[in-house]
Amino acid sequence: MDRSQVVGFACLRCEASYPATIELDSTGCPACRETAPSNLRPCYAAAATPSAGAQRARHSLWRYDHVLPCAAHDAVSLGEGLTPLTEATRIGRYLGVPNLAIKDEGRNPTWSHKDRFSTVAVSVARARGSRVVATASSGNAGASLAAYAARADLRCVVTTFTGSAGPMLAQIRKYGATVVPLVDKMDRWTLLAQAAERHGWFIASPYRAPVVGSHPLGIEGYKTIAYELVEQLDGQAPDWCVLPVCYGDALSGVWAGFLELFAQGTIVKLPRMVAAEVHGTLARALSTGSDMLEERDGGFESLAVSIGAPRSAYQALKALRDSSGCAIPVNNDGLVDMQERLARSEGLFAELASVTPLLAISRLRSEGVIASHDRVVAVVTASGLKDLDRSVEQSANDVSFQSTDRAWEWLGRNRAALMAPQV
Ligand SMILES: [Zn+2]
Repeated sequence: MDRSQVVGFACLRCEASYPATIELDSTGCPACRETAPSNLRPCYAAAATPSAGAQRARHSLWRYDHVLPCAAHDAVSLGEGLTPLTEATRIGRYLGVPNLAIKDEGRNPTWSHKDRFSTVAVSVARARGSRVVATASSGNAGASLAAYAARADLRCVVTTFTGSAGPMLAQIRKYGATVVPLVDKMDRWTLLAQAAERHGWFIASPYRAPVVGSHPLGIEGYKTIAYELVEQLDGQAPDWCVLPVCYGDALSGVWAGFLELFAQGTIVKLPRMVAAEVHGTLARALSTGSDMLEERDGGFESLAVSIGAPRSAYQALKALRDSSGCAIPVNNDGLVDMQERLARSEGLFAELASVTPLLAISRLRSEGVIASHDRVVAVVTASGLKDLDRSVEQSANDVSFQSTDRAWEWLGRNRAALMAPQV
């Protein structure tokens, strides 16, 4: 029942092609796996059309099931997708790009864009008869997979490393997933490789180095961000589409969506993709022209934990190159300030990793790469409730008032702050 419209797979790097019947996982193209590994991408029937079930699924991303590897009536869905595209003029003016809009992926069922991946991955896993889905993640990916596994009545195993904590791990446990903490980070992948081999678990995340990205069928779910954006922008792509990037699953998926829309003639111009990254892995490869991505550690612990891994993958590099895009390293400087500025000026409270695109846009504008009149979309990938443990310092100045008179005295003393402009 799965892969209803998928007719085969192709390697993003060496272009080797494979039949739709291959046993697919997240270890990349068999032909180039040992030398320069890359993820695969499904190919669809040229005349693919939405299924009968897509009409009933019109309130979720499954209305686009003709470009997904599973039909809508087989989907494990929580109503994901169709997130708002919000004009963000005030923060846009602050950044020098008044035509800024924010795709608010924090509005998904588990409050992150990973739901677009998980709904497809778990649907495919269930259609294949898998009993267990698993991932190496103590963050949004783990929480999302755990929710969709619960919805599908599948077991979910999440490997983490010792000391993982915080709201996202709590969320993973609430959905009933089995959490397996390991002292050595790399053991997370080893355990998943053993589980795939010995027990046939469906592994959603990467589990082999060098990393190529997550399961290619799940990545297809991210294409729907491009489909929604073009609808929300009245049939046009933006000039720039900026995302937080680590392995580049979402970047690669969104770019694939734009390419499909271009090939269909729905859009006449492609956007330039921008990766906001932590360690500069992609920026370095772009500047040197190398096809190989080095593991880079900037020597600091990033507050943007959702994209903090020191690795990236070829799929991200290819999307940036093919779109004439760029990668901007973002460290911790100004991150919390930008998060609060966005919340104060637009009413959007985003995870710290999710505001890295705004810092990248600021830099590209100041360098004159982005023009002031350009149409820019920043994809805010998750809610600010996800990493409150990192973004909030307990204030020593919290006060309570014995009476409303005291409260008004205090408000009077703080009148200047109350009247100050927000941006
Ligand atoms: Zn290949």
